[in-house]
Formats: sequence, C-alpha cells, structure tokens
Amino acid sequence: MAQQTSPGLPDGGDLPRAATVVVVGAGMAGLIAARALHRRGIDVLVLESAARPGGRMLAETTVLGSRVDLGGQWIGHGHHRFEALAAELGTTVFAMRTPDRATVVDGDTVVSNSGVDAVAAYAVLLVWEIAARVGAPRAWRTKSLRSWLGHVPNRRARRLLEVITSVSTTADLDRYSVYAFLDMIRFQGGFRTMLSTAGGAQEGLVADGAGTLAERLAADLGDRVIFDSAVTAIHRDDDGVTIRSATGSYRAAKVIVTVPPPMAARIEHHPALPAARIRLQDNTYMGSVYKAIAVYDRPFWRDRGHAELLALTEPGLASFDTSPPGGPGHLCILVAGPEARALDGLDNDARRAAILGPLAAHLGPRVLEPRGWHEKSWHRDQHVGGGYTALPIIGTDDGYLPADTTPLGHLHWAGTETAREHAGYIEGAIESGERAATEVAAALPDSPAD
Ligand SMILES: Cc1cc2nc3c(=O)[nH]c(=O)nc-3n(C[C@H](O)[C@H](O)[C@H](O)COP(=O)(O)OP(=O)(O)OC[C@H]3O[C@@H](n4cnc5c(N)ncnc54)[C@H](O)[C@@H]3O)c2cc1C
Repeated sequence: MAQQTSPGLPDGGDLPRAATVVVVGAGMAGLIAARALHRRGIDVLVLESAARPGGRMLAETTVLGSRVDLGGQWIGHGHHRFEALAAELGTTVFAMRTPDRATVVDGDTVVSNSGVDAVAAYAVLLVWEIAARVGAPRAWRTKSLRSWLGHVPNRRARRLLEVITSVSTTADLDRYSVYAFLDMIRFQGGFRTMLSTAGGAQEGLVADGAGTLAERLAADLGDRVIFDSAVTAIHRDDDGVTIRSATGSYRAAKVIVTVPPPMAARIEHHPALPAARIRLQDNTYMGSVYKAIAVYDRPFWRDRGHAELLALTEPGLASFDTSPPGGPGHLCILVAGPEARALDGLDNDARRAAILGPLAAHLGPRVLEPRGWHEKSWHRDQHVGGGYTALPIIGTDDGYLPADTTPLGHLHWAGTETAREHAGYIEGAIESGERAATEVAAALPDSPAD
C-alpha cells in the first residue's frame, strides 16, 4: 500500500473528538489494552471497523443453548493470562476430551499409525523438529513447503503432511517457506507443543465460548468502544495523533494500533511509516481458514471411540470433540489454505456434505444430521482478513514472530503478532495488550500510578 507523505491534519469538518488514548481494533489485544488504561483512570476510546467486538474470536449460541467458538478457542498449555481472564470474567474452563493420537483416515480407510505411510510422515515431522531446533538453512527461505513436500515419495505420507501443515498454519503451502514454517515451530516451542492437545496448544476450552470473553470486555467498556469505525488514516505530530475513521476524526495523546500487519496496510500514515514497517505490512498475509461446529444432542461418537480425526481426502480436514462436560455434542472441524477457499464456491448444503460426508464412515451416519450447524470462512471476513495469524510471504525477510513494537512517536503497536510469548494465540493478544497499555501509560505526562 502506498504511503502518503503529505503532512497535516484531516480535512476540515467538525472538531475531532478528544481522548487521551485511542486504541485501533476491538479484538482481544485492543480490549485488554483499553481495559488496562481505563483501570488506570486514563480516558480511552476503541475504534473498531466491524459491528462486533472480538476480531478473530467469535462465539455463537447453538439451538441447544450451548456456546460455540467460530474463531480462537483453545487455551494452550501455559496460557496463564487467558486462563486467568476466563476465571475473572466468570466463565468455566474444561480440559478437552482427546485420545492419545488423532486417527488418520483416507476415505473409508483408517491409516495405521504403525504402517509405512504414517511412519514416513512422522519421520519428516521429526526432521522438521530437529531442523527447527538447530536452525533451518537460509536457503529454505525461498523453498516453499509445497515444493519441499514434493520430494516425499510416499503419496499418503505427503498428503498427511500437507493436511497437518495446512491446518496448523492456515498457509497456502506454495506461498509459505519451509524456513518460515520451521521458525514458527521454533517460536512456539516445538511441533509437539503446536499440535498436541493435552500439554500443547489445544489443551482447554471455555464452556461459555472464548468469544464471550471479548463480548464481556467490550460490554464493560460500554460506549468507549465505537463500532463501524474503520480507521483510514493516522496523522502523527509532536503533540499527539489525529485519527480519521468512518465515524469521524479523533484527537489523542497516544494511539495503539492492534490490527494485524497485512490488514493495517489499509491505514494511511502521515508522515509515512518507516520502510521496515511498510515491508512488514506488505510482505505478510492472513491465512485462509474455514471452521465449522456441528451440534448434536450428545457426543454420540464417544459410545464407540473418539472424534479426533485427520481426513486426507479433499478437502483435507481436522475434527475435534469440543463438547462441554455434560452438554451437547460439539464437533469442531477445520479446513485451511486453498481447500478452505474452494469451499466458498459451494452452496450451504453441498459444503456441509463435503465436510461431514468423509466423517460418516468413521463416526457413523448420525454425524450427517446435526441439530445445529455453525460455520465461518475467516478469509472472507473483510475486517479480520483470515487467521490464525499473519504469515510471511515466501522469499521475504519480514513477518517472523514476534513483530517489532518500537513506538513511532505517539503511535504504539499491539496485537498477537507482537507478543514475546505465544504470538499468534489469544494468550499473545492478551500479553500484547497489557504490554502496550503499560508502555503508553508510562509515556503519558503525569502518568497515573499502576
Ligand atoms: C479460526 C481461528 C481459530 C483460532 N484458534 C485459536 C485457538 O484455538 N486458540 C488461540 O489461542 N488462538 C486461536 N486463534 C488465533 C486468535 O484468535 C488470535 O490470535 C487473537 O484473537 C488475535 O487477537 P488480536 O486482538 O491480536 O487481533 P484481532 O482479533 O484480529 O483484532 C484486530 C481488530 O482490529 C479490527 N480492525 C481491522 N482493521 C481495522 C481498522 N482499519 N480500523 C479499526 N479496526 C480495525 C478488526 O476488525 C479486529 O476486531 C484462532 C484464529 C482463528 C481465525
């Protein structure tokens, strides 16, 4: 995106509305930052482009009265801030019901975990794990995951690796380098941590829906959160910032931008941003991900086993049993990358059949008749742009986690991509919001004490 270089304030019109701090984005990072500032007695406003809070988090109520998450949901091992927030906001957390290992299925076939296909795939995962720890060769910055996987001779092993890498990152495998992938694995503490349920990134769930946390934070902030207020330009000067948005102009001492870098590229800056920040915005993209939750009277699949599957037929998908204890059956399904976008071309019935059909041979025909169905294609969300996180475009040197947070005059950065720990996760969003609020509070004249 071209950066405007002309100085000056927004054109004429009404006087800008004033606040001490303006936060751009009412996702978890922005809401946490605003809450922390408000608690310090600082006058804060949040400008959110969508008509709802939560960004990459979104909970819905099912026909059976339970709550399901279409966006971020799992509390990973060691995600203490997320867990503490869930407790503070009065929600219930439970451990996800999970087998030792997901079952890999290919059409009607169950792929044996000790067979040649699975062993070949697990050998590659081991190689990646080691390469991530010792450091991937720089030459792999231009080697796409898709072309790397092309060297895996075993078709089913290759497909299994495609599904695992795609669902765990949401990347287009031909636009994502092996280097970036291994860097992500290193940053997240290893493959086992990223992919595991118990002890890993998919350990716990919020019974009331993780998205409920965002709703409650926004409700507590009341009319300090202004929806349908896409920020289009930020003007920095020696005394503060002027922010132009769909709901008018705002004048503040400080602004915190929590929007992920590729989506933040839509905001003009006066004066222009430094070259490194422009590169970060231009050289990253949001992944493509489709998520569905099928709702049943009860988790009937538990009568004969579990529902944690990796399906290799197209679309490749991962399914999880996210049912709350004693509640209805919630079957969570994820499809990522180009196969997620391909689902957009189907009508609702065809899409549901494409998702549930391959599961019926393994979970039984009842899976085809859910009581409720919730779905979202995140890459089609014009405000969020996709998920789970911003990804580096192959061949570029930008976008590795965590993103730089050096303030630019009165402009500060937050958002999960900037977190020092657990970037890309809700935990990282919370950490970044807390950090940015502390940073801004300390930089204000006559800063109120903590
Ligand atoms: C399908 C899916 C599954 C996920 N699963 C998990 C999981 O299980 N566990 C986990 O920990 N994480 C998960 N994540 C990731 C997690 O949801 C995110 O890391 C986290 O929610 C990011 O929060 P954030 O505040 O940093 O960014 P966002 O939530 O993206 O917030 C940014 C906000 O800025 C707004 N915005 C954008 N442009 C503008 C503008 N110009 N002006 C004003 N506002 C603007 C957006 O609408 C958005 O509300 C998942 C994400 C997705 C999409």
